[in-house]
Amino acid sequence: MDLNEKFGWSNSNSIVSKSYTCGYCGNSLVSNVGYSGFGFNSNRPSFIYICHFCTRPTYFDPEGEQIPGKAYGNDVNEISEKGIQTLFQEARNATSANCYTAAILCCRKLLMHIAVSKGAKVGASFADYVEYLSNNNFVPPDAKIWVDHIRKKGNEANHEIVIMSPEDAKELIDFCEMLLKIIYEYPASIQKKYLQPKNDLDNK
Ligand SMILES: [Zn+2]
Repeated sequence: MDLNEKFGWSNSNSIVSKSYTCGYCGNSLVSNVGYSGFGFNSNRPSFIYICHFCTRPTYFDPEGEQIPGKAYGNDVNEISEKGIQTLFQEARNATSANCYTAAILCCRKLLMHIAVSKGAKVGASFADYVEYLSNNNFVPPDAKIWVDHIRKKGNEANHEIVIMSPEDAKELIDFCEMLLKIIYEYPASIQKKYLQPKNDLDNK
């Protein structure tokens, strides 16, 4: 989705203002522009709010549930591999649709990709890959208490039908986010900050 493309919405109205975080662009906002309507068999209102940053519409049902919701987790910059960037975003987007088991399966695939990109052998088990990342020091010492837990949870999601909870999905997204920052974002930002000027000097 190209969020730079903006939309004008015909006949949108001024409605009761609502504060929310846009599931498309991630901005927190207060909007009073959109549409309201009632169920045919009830007088309970639903609302559609238009985000004034990205112009995308967000639906709020009579219970106040937001669709799409806010994607869990934070952006990670400087991920050089497109597939890894896409999988991480898919895992986060799945949480915005309350699809937590799907988010976990995305994270599992993501961790396998990361491990293979860091030298693990292809075709190993999920548990082996998590162990590989831990044993090769991609997981900081204090975060290693996560490793056993995540390995166990990952296997649960794969081998039997167990619907995963929001907490399980968020925990695994946190773990992936930490790894991606350590492997991609921090080295790239250090590189930019310190190594680049030095290279420039060397070239003079
Ligand atoms: Zn938005």
